[in-house]
Amino acid sequence: MAAVTVIDHPLVQHKLTLMRRAETTAADFRALLREISMLLAYEVTRDLPLTTVPIATPLAPMQAPQLAGKKTVIVSIMRAGEGILSGMLELIPLARVGHIGIYRDPKTHVAVEYYFKVPDDIAERQTLVVDPMLATGNSAVAALTRLKAAGAQSCKYVCLLAAPEGIQHVQEAHPEVPIYTAAIDERLNDHGYILPGLGDAGDRLFGTK
Ligand code: URA
Repeated sequence: MAAVTVIDHPLVQHKLTLMRRAETTAADFRALLREISMLLAYEVTRDLPLTTVPIATPLAPMQAPQLAGKKTVIVSIMRAGEGILSGMLELIPLARVGHIGIYRDPKTHVAVEYYFKVPDDIAERQTLVVDPMLATGNSAVAALTRLKAAGAQSCKYVCLLAAPEGIQHVQEAHPEVPIYTAAIDERLNDHGYILPGLGDAGDRLFGTK
C-alpha cells in the first residue's frame, strides 16, 4: 500500500485554516489555494531524479544539478482542480497539463466523466493528479482508472483535504498511488461533503454560491 503523506508544514496549516473559515472571500480563497499548491508541489516533487550537467558560472565551470528523466504532467480534475493546477504551474512551469471533467451525481455521488484530454506521451511522465477535496474517492478512483487506461504509469494523487473514506477507497482501487494531503478530516456528511472541511471547493474558488 502506498503511503499517505500529510504535509504538516506550518505555512500550509496556517493557510488551510484561513481557507476553511466561512468568511474567507473567493478572492482570498483562490490566492491561498495558489500559495498552498506551490508548497504542496514542493513536497510532492521532492523525489524527482537529478542529473548533473556541465555549466559555466561567471567565475568557473562546474557540474550542476538539473532535473533528469521523467517529466511531469499535472492532471486537473475539473473544476476545483484548476485552483491547485495554477499554483503548481508557477513552480513547475514546464509541466504539461491534462484535464479530466468529472462531476458527482448529486443523488448517487457516482462520478460521471464529461471531458478528457491529456498529453499523448503521458506514459513517459510523472503524473500528478490534483483535486482539492478527496471525499468519497469516487472521482479520484475514476480519474486514476481513466489515466491508467490512457497509459499513465506513475501517478501521485494530490489534494488539500481528505476524508478517511476517500483515502480508503483510493487505496483499495489503486494501492500503488501515493496520496498527498494537507489534512485528514473527520468524516463525510450524508451529502458526501467533508466534515469539518471547507465547504464546496469549486463554489468557494469561483464564487458560484
Ligand atoms: N467536494 C467539495 O468541494 N467539498 C467537499 O467537502 C467534498 C467534495
